Amino acid sequence: MPTSAAYQPEPRFADLGDEYGDPARPADFPAALLRRRNDRAAATVGLETLTDAEWTAHFGRFEPLPGQPGPIAMRYHGHQFRTYNPDLGDGRGFLAAQMRDDRGRLLDLGTKGSGQTPWSRAGDGRLTLKGGVREILAAEMLETLGVPTSRAFSLIETGEALQRGDEPSPTRSAVLVRLSHSHIRFGTFQRAAYLGRKDMVEALVEHARSLYHPDVAAGDVPGFLRAVVEASARLNASWIAAGFVHGVLNTDNLNVTGESFDYGPWRFLPSYEPGFTAAYFDHSGLYAFARQPEAVFWALTQLGGALKLVADAEPLTEALNAFGPAYIQELRAAFLARLGVLSLGEAADQRLLDATLALLREGGEALRWEPLFFDWFCGFASSARALGGPRGKLWQGETFDAFRFALFEHAPNRPERLEHPMFARPEPEEMLIDEVEAIWAAIEADDDWGPFEAKLHRLRESGETWALNAR
Ligand code: AMP
Ligand code: MG
Repeated sequence: MPTSAAYQPEPRFADLGDEYGDPARPADFPAALLRRRNDRAAATVGLETLTDAEWTAHFGRFEPLPGQPGPIAMRYHGHQFRTYNPDLGDGRGFLAAQMRDDRGRLLDLGTKGSGQTPWSRAGDGRLTLKGGVREILAAEMLETLGVPTSRAFSLIETGEALQRGDEPSPTRSAVLVRLSHSHIRFGTFQRAAYLGRKDMVEALVEHARSLYHPDVAAGDVPGFLRAVVEASARLNASWIAAGFVHGVLNTDNLNVTGESFDYGPWRFLPSYEPGFTAAYFDHSGLYAFARQPEAVFWALTQLGGALKLVADAEPLTEALNAFGPAYIQELRAAFLARLGVLSLGEAADQRLLDATLALLREGGEALRWEPLFFDWFCGFASSARALGGPRGKLWQGETFDAFRFALFEHAPNRPERLEHPMFARPEPEEMLIDEVEAIWAAIEADDDWGPFEAKLHRLRESGETWALNAR
């Protein structure tokens, strides 16, 4: 079947004109093996009714979906590890389609590994199959934990042999499609400012404001920045509560909606470690776990700098200054959500945040990140389960007592969630590197997709149980 009645194409990027992207041609791949179709995500945009053959034609060979103008490689610049690079842009991807979802949001289908574009520089425009598998695992885990994230929509293996410095090579190739709430990056604005094009900065602000932050009044540039600041603060807080390290917080990897995307060398924390770094090429730990708020704030100041072309500095600075307070507020909310308890006012919520972090810090390697939230979900309602469970002996001592005291002050939030069989299991779902490597090893060695499929199945089940998006 073709698209369903729920499919609402709305290709708005073209509204900006032809100075923001270039028509791109997908590579002519030797194969198109459908490895993953995300029908849950597809159902939100009316594409779950496509047959596998239609799916493969649209997301492996990139025949445009109905009502779409064809692939556009987006132009952008950005700071990479704080060095400005005016040679970025979609070098191995393009915007394939835009449509409304079932909540009325404008979403993009964007590709990764679809071939070379005018912005490929020396790159081959390709994605490794392992890279595709890793992006799916990251996005699914983040969604499970209630983090605003792009979703991995499709993965098609493309039958090429790639050479990579960071994978045993030759290695298999794939093309990924992601469904994301905008690919307009901080670096998209930086490019317009770098070119000295006040008109382009203005057009971008109006475009992004009207489509993604419609509550901000037309022409209110500081208001727009403030909306991006608040969304970014929220994203950051939810990464921290998820124990997630993105790995590459360059200004071309952060977008105007505060939804995270582009998962390369990401990791989840095994246990509390502020300096935990994900990317092997991040030698100084610039994007380490606990430095992510600082990294995103720095990136926001670059966005603010670009907006200075079209607004006064003072109100822009004020908008940027909202980041710290918004981040702390969102951090309290994110930890409350993960612990499954209701707010009791700022002071009590802060005590709980502090006590949780103190416990994680003191617990060291013995106390893994996910099990703390699993054992103590909904506070005192989990007491017997936690104390009688496999980690019972961890739950003692002064720091624990302070945590328990702060936690039990707060009422459980929707404690009926504890009735799910997931909570009768000894271990929560995690996404630590050994498991990721084991999932990949089965694919690489035996073309066995079983562990990957099984993991995604368990993540979906645990996401529905946590129901963290409903907060
Ligand atoms: P990333 O670090 O993945 O966000 O990519 C940074 C920049 O490098 C972007 O402009 C990408 O499009 C580009 N890029 C990354 N890998 C490749 C590749 N294999 N071929 C062409 N361009 C690439
Ligand atoms: Mg990127």
